[in-house]
Amino acid sequence: MRRCFVCDKTYDKGRELTCSDECHEELAKRLIARFGEFKKVVRQTTGVAYKVPTRDIIERGIKEQDLDQYPIWEEERKTLICWPVSLKSYVTPGSLQDKCSKCGQPVWVSPSSWLIMHDNPGMEILCTACAIANMKKDNHFEIEAITPAQAEEIREYLVSR
Ligand SMILES: [Zn+2]
Ligand SMILES: [Zn+2]
Repeated sequence: MRRCFVCDKTYDKGRELTCSDECHEELAKRLIARFGEFKKVVRQTTGVAYKVPTRDIIERGIKEQDLDQYPIWEEERKTLICWPVSLKSYVTPGSLQDKCSKCGQPVWVSPSSWLIMHDNPGMEILCTACAIANMKKDNHFEIEAITPAQAEEIREYLVSR
């Protein structure tokens, strides 16, 4: 049995993360409101970023080899958004602590994020709170995220609401 992310009922047969088409549409709407219509997904082996519809991430789950079919992300800002340690939420095994470059609070950086930071020197780490504050004043702000972390990040967001 799984639990629907929208209505919180348990279900057996349903959509990927929800119990029904109605809940699925609601979830897609919320995630698009939160993450934008497209999400930037970085291919781990090459560091190339792709523009992937948020809906595809929920409905299909994007695997690294699927990324080829999406356009390259043309934007240069490099920001890594990390969950604050104070949130006491899910932590990817092997994560290390770093600091938000804006407010200085400790955040978790997952092993895959370390690799991306290694390949992209000068990347900025932001905690989720500062990232949201940034997004509010900058419509072009985009999330630098990592394929295997996508689903977890989306789940974290839903759980933290
Ligand atoms: Zn539901
Ligand atoms: Zn911060």
